[in-house]
Order: sequence, then structure tokens, then C-alpha cells
Amino acid sequence: MEGLMQDYELSLQHVLWRLERLHAHKEVVTKQEQGVHRTTNGEMVPRINRLAGALKRLGIKPGDRVATLAWNNYRHLELYYAVPCMGAVLHTLNLRLFPQHLEFVINDAEDKVLFVDQTLLPLLKPLIGKIPSVEQFVVMGNGTPLPDHGLGDVLDYETLLHAESEAYPWPKLSERMAAAMCYTSGTTGNPKGVVYSHRSQFIHTMGVLQADNLGLTEKDVVFPIVPMFHANSWGLPYACGMAGCKVLFPDRFMGDAKSVVDLAEQEAATILAGVPTIWINTAALLKQTGQRLPKVHTVICGGSAIPRSLMESMDAIGLRMLHAWGMTETSPLGSVARPRSGTPADDELNKRLTQGIVVPGVEIRIVDPASDEVLPWDGVAFGEIQVRGPWIARGYYNGYDPGKLTEDGWFRTGDVAKITPEGYIQIVDRTKDVIKSGGEWISSVDLENAIMSHPKILEAAVIGLAHSKWDERPVAYAVARPEFKGQVTQEEVIQFLQDKVAKWWLPDEVRFIDEVPKTSVGKFDKKVLRASAVPIKESAAPAGRK
Ligand code: ADP
Repeated sequence: MEGLMQDYELSLQHVLWRLERLHAHKEVVTKQEQGVHRTTNGEMVPRINRLAGALKRLGIKPGDRVATLAWNNYRHLELYYAVPCMGAVLHTLNLRLFPQHLEFVINDAEDKVLFVDQTLLPLLKPLIGKIPSVEQFVVMGNGTPLPDHGLGDVLDYETLLHAESEAYPWPKLSERMAAAMCYTSGTTGNPKGVVYSHRSQFIHTMGVLQADNLGLTEKDVVFPIVPMFHANSWGLPYACGMAGCKVLFPDRFMGDAKSVVDLAEQEAATILAGVPTIWINTAALLKQTGQRLPKVHTVICGGSAIPRSLMESMDAIGLRMLHAWGMTETSPLGSVARPRSGTPADDELNKRLTQGIVVPGVEIRIVDPASDEVLPWDGVAFGEIQVRGPWIARGYYNGYDPGKLTEDGWFRTGDVAKITPEGYIQIVDRTKDVIKSGGEWISSVDLENAIMSHPKILEAAVIGLAHSKWDERPVAYAVARPEFKGQVTQEEVIQFLQDKVAKWWLPDEVRFIDEVPKTSVGKFDKKVLRASAVPIKESAAPAGRK
């Protein structure tokens, strides 16, 4: 017997409908060079209609890819709605990719029209003549004359919108249709295209909103500092549209802690979201200035593990972090660290520092990569995280890397973790970052956390370097806090670690650098460290065993 419920197609048009009917008065505020740009959903909806009309006029058909090279701002949000709701596919380009990666992803996706923020035009210069699929460039101007760009005839966003009607006959969509594309940021290899469907975006949005997940409500003022090209800004734009949150955008000031703090304060932000490196700078600034953000109740943080020292210093200034785990391929929400009921007060911090509990709708297992054996949730055994669910990728665009899906339909994440009997996930490392020393594994993440809890250290990244006897040994790259520059030694760091990690985990060397290189989405870039690392001095006794 079949159920008698409607086959209602799950699509982003539903979110657009709510934006128009229920949340028209809600503001969208974007930081600008001087002051802010302020609009409302009610003002944006006719522009979204005009934009869809313009795209149609440019020849965009269902399934065509429309690329954006843009900061987090209101125009990018208009594209977030117009493109998928007309049946085309929004391809958000990562503006921090190297030109050859940018070229690769545009060609791989065969983008037809490319929307670019005026300030980002220079990024396209090296691509001139190399991205033949792009028929038209549309510049989202900032009121100043365009620089010399070499792209030939380009269209102006506002002029384009102006010429269209405020009404658009949105087509009927099927929920399986592609809505958006996002390439992995290539932390561990070439970027690969992840294709979200309307259905996956819709269900993911509902998942994001759940109280035990990110828990956005209509009362919230949400400030996504995580880029709109990084896994759809973690799904926040659509979640805000669905719930009716006021939204703040940092535009090109997302890396500037002072701008972020000032906008959050002026616009009464209640939820902030970004990767740990953003908060390392923010916490340092707030500590120094004494400024506080009392209205902020949650700082959503994911993308890499939150160092304990960071969560502690954020707690101390009243900013409560909510740790989440996920990846581009998981839309990205996979797990959220909210301590379960009954957690003793003195264990809360430990639980908040785990990657948390897998979210409803997603199934998880850990598997021994050597034997394919599914491992128990005993808090000891660790293996690769595999997941499945309605917003988990089943493959990449153009069929790359088919081995990422197991024969029985689980996605191999490449993250190594243990899971406690209560279900808390604890990521040990990425399979590619874990250090294999004498047949045993050393977690680079745990070592980094231990080093970053040293009061004189701001950032630390640990990599494994080749060793003739042990295969690999850990080497730490550390950045001193500015006030302690030149005043912290390898010996001091090793001494500090003695009671925090096993003796054989102690790094062979601690190398001081000015800054840890970051990936395009702000994570520590160990690929760069590895590529330029000088070999371990094996003749000298390791730092930890002197
Ligand atoms: P890339 O794979 O290029 O870094 P993603 O943003 O998709 O781009 O990265 C997903 C990966 O980031 C995960 O597989 C995991 O290794 C890491 N990650 C994300 N969130 C966390 C977290 N909370 N703790 C530890 N690692 C995380």
C-alpha cells in the first residue's frame, strides 16, 4: 500500500517563496568601503526575478552552469536564488584558488556565464583566452570605473537587471535537478566538482535549522564569514532564508577582524560562522581592545578542529563556539558538538571540542581501511569515517574518483576518527596527514592542539617528514604570538609537551615561522609546508629525546 501524501517537489523555490511572503521586511546588510549597503528581502525579490529574466535573455537554459566569482554580499545572494530557481546550476568559484585551478574548474564545469565582483576582475586576467565555455562576463560594479580587464565586452549587473521585468514565471522544477556546484578546495588534491540537487539542498536546509544542529531561528541575526564559495557558506544563506533571519555580509572584509567585529556589534549579530583561523585573530583583537559582543550567542566553527586553547579564550571573552564537522561533499553539515543531556559540567568543554554527534538524516560508521572491517563505537578503535544520507555526494562531476563510494553505497570521507559509545566523533586526523612513525599513528591534530595551548604560541601545524628508521617523524611549524616573537625556543615547547603527549609523539624538531600557510578556505596548508620542508636532521638527537 502506498502513502497518500503529495509528491511535493523539494526545491529552493520554496525558500524563495518564504523570503517573499513571510520575511520581506528582514534586512540584508553588506559591509562596504564606506559604511554598509542595506536592503531587505522584499526589495531583493523583484531583483531576483529580474536577474532570472536576464539570465534567460542571455540564453541560460535548465542545467546550464552559471559561475560566480564573488565575496559574501547581497548580489551574490540574489544569484543564489535566481540561478537555481530558474533551473540552472549555480557554480560558486573559490576566489582564492590558484589561476590554474580556477581555469580547471571553470573548464570542467563548462560555465556559460560568469558573474564577477568588480574588485575581483584582476583574478580573471590570467584566464583570458583559456576558458572558452564562458560566453559572457557580468561585472558586479562598485560605482567606480572598471579597471583595464582585457575580457572584451562585459555586461554590467545593474544595467542588466534594469532592463528586465519584476515578475518572472518560475518553471516547475524536479527535485532531482542540479541546483548548485561546488568544487572541493583541493586541500589534499585537485578540486573535484560536487553537485547538489534541489532536494539535497532543501533537506540540508531543514537539517541546518534543527535546534540540536545549528539552530537558527527567525530572531537571529546571522553573520556568515565563511565564504559563499565554501560549501555554500555551510548552507547558511538558504537556512537564513527559510527561517527568516537578518543576514550580515562582510564582502571583501571577511579577513579583517576589526571590520567583522564592528559590523557584528553595529548590527547586533547573534550568530557568527567561520573557520578557526578567523577566530584566532578575532579573539586576539578582542582581548587586546576589550571590546565585547554580548548579543552573540553562538560562533559556528568548522572546517578544521577547534584548538582547545581557542575555545577557552573565546569562552573567556563571552563567545561560545559551536563545533561542527563536514565537508563540501556532505553539503556540508555532518555532525555538531552539543553536549548531550546529563553531561557533567566539568566535561562540557571536552564534549564541545569533539566533532560531536552525527546529525539526523546522516548515517555514520568507522571502517578499518586495511581490512574494511566496520569498527565498534568504543572510543578506542579508530578508522575512516564513512557516511551516507540524502545530502551526501554519491560521486563527483565528470566521474572523477569513483572509488570514493564504497560498493555498499557509503561515502569515504578520508577522515580518521574514533566514536565513543554515546556517539561523539573524535577526529584523529585526515588519512593524508596522520604521521606514521614506526608502524604507529601519531595524530597531527592532537599535537598541534597541544602546542597551540602554549601561552606563547599563536599557531602550529605538524607534518610527518621522512625518517630512515621510523618511516616518518613529526616536525612542528610554530608561530610565536607577536609579543613573544624570538622569545620562545624549541626546548621550551618540547618541555611543555612532556606531560601532554606520549614521549614518542614529541616532535623531532620545532621550526619557527612567521605564519602558517593557509589554504584557499583558511585552513593550515600542510601541502605547502611539506613541499618546502627541509629534511629532518637525523644526525642530531631528536628535540624530544635530548
Ligand atoms: P577541503 O577538503 O579541500 O579541505 P572541505 O572544506 O570540504 O575542503 O574540507 C573538509 C574536511 O575538513 C573534512 O574532511 C575534515 O578533514 C576537515 N574538517 C572539517 N570540519 C572539521 C572539524 N570540525 N574538525 C576537524 N576537521 C574538520
